[in-house]
Amino acid sequence: MAKKKSRPTPVPPEPLHPLFDAHTHLYSTVRKIVASRGVEIKGRTLTDEEYAAGVQEIMDRAQAVGVTHACTVGDGLEETVAAVRAAEMDPRVYAAVAVHPTLAHTVTDHVKTQLEDLAAHPRCVAIGETGLDEYWIGKDEDTAPLEVQEEIFRWHIDLAVRTGKALMIHNREADQNLLRVLDYAPKPETVIMHCFSSPLDVAREFLERGYVLSFCGNTTFKRNEELRQAAAEAPQGQFLVETDAPFMTPEPFRGARNESAYVGYTARVVAEARGCAPEEVALQSSETARRVFGLA
Ligand SMILES: [Zn+2]
Repeated sequence: MAKKKSRPTPVPPEPLHPLFDAHTHLYSTVRKIVASRGVEIKGRTLTDEEYAAGVQEIMDRAQAVGVTHACTVGDGLEETVAAVRAAEMDPRVYAAVAVHPTLAHTVTDHVKTQLEDLAAHPRCVAIGETGLDEYWIGKDEDTAPLEVQEEIFRWHIDLAVRTGKALMIHNREADQNLLRVLDYAPKPETVIMHCFSSPLDVAREFLERGYVLSFCGNTTFKRNEELRQAAAEAPQGQFLVETDAPFMTPEPFRGARNESAYVGYTARVVAEARGCAPEEVALQSSETARRVFGLA
C-alpha cells in the first residue's frame, strides 16, 4: 500500500483581534468534522443536532483566537438554507444566499422564489457565491454550461441590486467573461471578489472599479506572489480576509481541513505584504466586512 503523505494536524494561529471570516462553508466543514470522527454520513444530510453542535464548535474555536464573526455560504439550495439556519442559531454567524455557478442549471423558477425569500432574511448579508466558473466546464459533466452560468449570474446580480445586499462573486478562470457581464449589468452597491485569485492586472482593474478583494488561504502559497502584491496594493476599505473552509487552508497547513479559526494565518501574510502590523489588517478588514455586509 502506498504510504500516505503525513501532514501536520493544523493548530489555530496566535490570537489576532478582531477578525471577520468573510466567506466560509460551515455546513460542509461540519460534515468533514463529523466524518473525521468515524460517523457514517454518506448519502444522508446532517441531523439538526450534529449541525448545531458543529457550528458552535467551529465558532468557539474561532472566537478563542479573535475571530468574532463569519459569513457562511452554501453551494446548492439545500446548503444555502442551512447557511441561513446557522446565522439564526449563532449570533457570530451571518449568511450569504445564492446557488453556486457550477450548479446554475439547478436554478428553476421555484428555486428562484426560495432564494428571494432567503435573501430577504435579516441575517442574509450578501448575495453569493455567484459568478462564473470556467475551470470545471469540460472537466465535470455535471457543471452548468457557460450560457446557463451567465444567465443565472445576471439573475443574482439583479437580486443583489433589488435587495441592496453585497454581491459576492466566485470567479474561477473567468476574468474576461466576468468583466463583460458586469459591464452590461445593473450595478450593485458592493461587489466582493471572493477568494481573489486573478492576475495583478485584473486586481488593478477590479480595484479601480471599487470592488473589494477578499483574500483567502492561497494568498499564503509560496508561488502566489501576485496575490500578495494585490494585497499590498488594495486600498484600505477594499480588502477582506476569508477561509473558504473546508478548502484552501493557509500555510503552514496547506492541504489539511480548513476552518474559520485559521483565517489569522492569511491575515498575517496580508499584513506582511502591506508592510503593516497584523492588528491593523485585522481591524481594517473587520471594519470593511461590517460595512459591506451592512452591519456597521
Ligand atoms: Zn466558497
